[in-house]
Amino acid sequence: LLFEREDEPIVIRRPCALQFDSDPIHLARASKQYIYDTAGNEYLDASNNTAHVGHCHPHVVSAGQSQMARAACSQGYVCDVQKRYLKKLLETLPEKLSVCFLLNSGSEANDLALRLARRYTGGDDIVVFENTYHGNLSSLIEISPKLYRYEEPRNRESIHVIPLPDSCHIERENVPHETDRLVQEARSLIQAQVKRGRSIAGFLSEIIVVNAGVVVPPNGYYQGLYRAVREAGGLCIADEVQTGLGRMGEHFWAFQQHGVLPDIITIGKQLGNGYPLAAVITTRDIADSIGDFVSTYGGNPVACSMGLAVLEVIQNEQMQSSCTMVGYILKEGLVNLKARYSCIGSIRGSGLCLGVEIVGYNSGNPDPFTTNEIKDRMKAEKILLISQGPDHNVLVITPPMCFTTENARRFLRSFESVLAAIQSEG
Ligand code: PMP
Repeated sequence: LLFEREDEPIVIRRPCALQFDSDPIHLARASKQYIYDTAGNEYLDASNNTAHVGHCHPHVVSAGQSQMARAACSQGYVCDVQKRYLKKLLETLPEKLSVCFLLNSGSEANDLALRLARRYTGGDDIVVFENTYHGNLSSLIEISPKLYRYEEPRNRESIHVIPLPDSCHIERENVPHETDRLVQEARSLIQAQVKRGRSIAGFLSEIIVVNAGVVVPPNGYYQGLYRAVREAGGLCIADEVQTGLGRMGEHFWAFQQHGVLPDIITIGKQLGNGYPLAAVITTRDIADSIGDFVSTYGGNPVACSMGLAVLEVIQNEQMQSSCTMVGYILKEGLVNLKARYSCIGSIRGSGLCLGVEIVGYNSGNPDPFTTNEIKDRMKAEKILLISQGPDHNVLVITPPMCFTTENARRFLRSFESVLAAIQSEG
């Protein structure tokens, strides 16, 4: 957000027109999966993935409040709550990923991951997918091709962009063959850089690429790609800022869904349920390459108390299994709608991380105009959605994990009536 003095006392602008509503809600308060504006309207929040276990969940709020009243200091001390939090967080991961750095945002986490990869390998270069975003620090704008239209990277030489495969656009019977071809294509691009004398530090990607429109590469692709990156001397970094902590349903982490083990994972957004908290988790060897590491607020006791409470809520309220079930109902309903409305190109993702690709009725091409129309009409139905993807034509459904079956049914009813109205207007 930008704050600017004008005729009125203060004007608030969003300099990012890419994905957000041009007429944002004036937020008064939020609770569970609902958002309330200053006029008293209640909205069903279908895409706010920071309020992971629900806006202002009482267990998380009370954990934060009581720690704030006990001690809210920064670095230099060790608190019990930090140890309890780290133990619980690391328990969710394979043993090899045993060292955790705590920070304040997804951008900080990805910046540190790049530093670790470069220090550990001695390499410089980073491989990324096209159309992706990893944060707003200078080091990340360099490697976020989604922003290249607005900001040219200064060190283009050291950034290698590879195609992002979308399993929805591969014929089912061609998947094994096409997956091999895609891995081979990426391997050749990486090897060509090595032959030119470039040294690869790592490959950074979301595993399910939410920022490119919930793009899911085909099964087996990451296994081949990770092998190619490691052959070239690089580390594999998984950005789980959007996908981690059970959102994908069956698996707690997206990398588990694709049967790979990254060398480094980065997490943010949902960790603190709306309170700034992020993490980089890696192996002991890689962590040791960094030397000193300091962050004034990273891992402060209030953030750790809230982070711990988030993990407790996921466990105590069986949120992962409920997310799997509700996600299944939503996806099934959307797939049924796709059979009846040709403006739906594909349904991607799993659990409560779904994407609905909107295309032209006749052309089948990405249709950002209809996407916006659907978003606006859903807002009039008091349901909030955002869109993503290089053509801004993928509606992203990533609600708080407490989204219920009834919420899913309401979503589907409204979605269908919006599609029917748009279709009848031609
Ligand atoms: N990685 C991914 C995948 C993201 O979606 C984002 C934010 N949208 C970030 C990193 C950056 O996180 P933050 O805004 O907390 O710095």
